[in-house]
Amino acid sequence: MNPDVIVIGGGAAGLMCALIAGQRGRRVTVLDHANRVGKKILMSGGGRCNFTNLGTTPDNYLSANPHFAKSALARYTPHDFIALVEKHGIAYHEKERGQLFCDVSSKLIVRMLLDECAQAGVDIRTSCTIEDVQRDGDGFALRTTHGPMACASLVIASGGLSIPSMGASGFGYDLARRFGHAVLPTRAGLVPLTLSGKHLDRYSDLSGVAVPEVEARSARKAFRAGLLFTHRGISGPSILQVSSYWQPGETVHIDFLPDTDASAWLGAQREAHPDRELKTLLSEALPKRLAQRLCELEFGQRPLRQYAVAALDDIGRRLKAWPIVASGSEGYRTAEVTLGGVDTDGLSSKTMASRHVPGLYFIGEVVDVTGWLGGYNFQWAWASGHAAGLAV
Ligand SMILES: Cc1cc2nc3c(=O)[nH]c(=O)nc-3n(C[C@H](O)[C@H](O)[C@H](O)COP(=O)(O)OP(=O)(O)OC[C@H]3O[C@@H](n4cnc5c(N)ncnc54)[C@H](O)[C@@H]3O)c2cc1C
Repeated sequence: MNPDVIVIGGGAAGLMCALIAGQRGRRVTVLDHANRVGKKILMSGGGRCNFTNLGTTPDNYLSANPHFAKSALARYTPHDFIALVEKHGIAYHEKERGQLFCDVSSKLIVRMLLDECAQAGVDIRTSCTIEDVQRDGDGFALRTTHGPMACASLVIASGGLSIPSMGASGFGYDLARRFGHAVLPTRAGLVPLTLSGKHLDRYSDLSGVAVPEVEARSARKAFRAGLLFTHRGISGPSILQVSSYWQPGETVHIDFLPDTDASAWLGAQREAHPDRELKTLLSEALPKRLAQRLCELEFGQRPLRQYAVAALDDIGRRLKAWPIVASGSEGYRTAEVTLGGVDTDGLSSKTMASRHVPGLYFIGEVVDVTGWLGGYNFQWAWASGHAAGLAV
């Protein structure tokens, strides 16, 4: 017998949608081309899944329509997901800034979703390739490697393009276009930035050096968190966050001393310790190799008394807005998310239903809603999946 609902993609959004629809008594089948569902959940948060963020607000998302996510996020909050996690006895902790992680393993989140799906009678089929989707009367006809199928409601939860080795595909975007939806340009988000030429030469041998807290600024947004130099460029949470706002060729400015008036600090140190070398002083506030490199590159390596007050003032200002010219990003191979996607103009913010094709829904990362680093992307997957699950 054909199901009422077919969900294409058994990731975070698809499984949530399936279990909610199943609980309403809908007959639901989930199809996934991968050999198991929830692969990104398994690899997320370093294997411990940062499954939500207590501080989630619509402001934590990028979208051409910043209002679109409001309704779904308001109707399925982090506390709703926490209640589910607690119902399944999964231990968790807050790491920092509202980020909730499993104590033991992200496998428990996948297990929880699969148990809920099983209880709701959801049929999950893996290693299933969808070869064709056609409109068929009021519903849809699918040709798949598991045979022909039909349904009244079709939910596209096939995710974005990041980490192709984990089953990511452009399926959802192609299908959206075919059914008359606009798809906004996609690009890698939450991704390390790469440097090239002389810009890379300045830092490449700092690979592995980490600064616990900087403020990284792009033209549109600033984030305070850690920075890591890599052999190809810069990474760490502050850079991943800023990467989603960064445009190719744009300079990222780093405040290496976000809690310090650096010019005043340097001036006071000159008074107190005139014979100290600038490099030694900076090593108190920054990793030694970085302090040394900044001095080699621009500041010089002299005792403080040999710097004029105005020169130290200038060095202080540059430490608070150090320019790094990034040429590109590591791309979808390592990106945590895909920016852009199915234009929200064509969707109902309440149900995720297509405005063009009755019975068609888009949820999760395939939609042009992208969260910051810190559990926001899963919260969008749960919330949008829940919204569609109540409507299909
Ligand atoms: C390394 C990494 C770590 C992350 N860590 C976190 C974190 O800790 N917290 C957080 O909030 N977010 C995290 N994210 C982001 C988060 O994983 C995604 O935003 C989220 O999984 C999106 O959910 P989704 O259901 O829309 O898509 P996905 O979870 O990607 O699921 C899509 C599903 O569709 C299937 N599929 C794709 N194409 C087809 C097709 N053609 N036919 C059939 N099936 C198909 C895929 O196999 C997959 O199972 C991380 C991402 C990565 C890559």
